[in-house]
Amino acid sequence: MLKDYYALLGLPQDATHADIKLQYQRLLLQHHPDKVQQRQEEAKATGSPVMLQDIKEAWECLREPAQRAFYDTSLKESGSYSTPCRCSGEYVISEAELELGVDTVVCSTCSLIVRIHYEVASDGDEED
Ligand SMILES: [Zn+2]
Repeated sequence: MLKDYYALLGLPQDATHADIKLQYQRLLLQHHPDKVQQRQEEAKATGSPVMLQDIKEAWECLREPAQRAFYDTSLKESGSYSTPCRCSGEYVISEAELELGVDTVVCSTCSLIVRIHYEVASDGDEED
C-alpha cells in the first residue's frame, strides 16, 4: 500500500512546497540524534513512531513538483481519503477500511478521533 507522505509529515495534501520544506526541516530537527531519546518516549506514548527514514523518503518524493503530481495521482487512485485536523495533522482512511465498516479515524498527529459520515461529502463547514 502507498505510504501517505502527507500524513507522515502532518500536512494536508494541498500544502504548498514551502510548507512541505518547512515541515521537513522541522521534523529533521525533531529527529536529531540529540532528541531521538525524547522522541522515542513520545512515540511509545502515542503508539505511532515516525521514522526519520520515512520523513526523508516523503521529502524526496514531494520536493519535485512533477514527482509530487504523480504521487498525488497515485494516492487518489489508491483510494484513501484524508481530511485535515485542527492540529495541522490529518485523518486518513483507505477505501479498504471503509469497506470493512471502519467509521472512525484517528488523527495522524494528535490522536483525536473523528467519526466518518457516509453521506456524499460537502465542502461546507460541519462545526458542531
Ligand atoms: Zn489532530
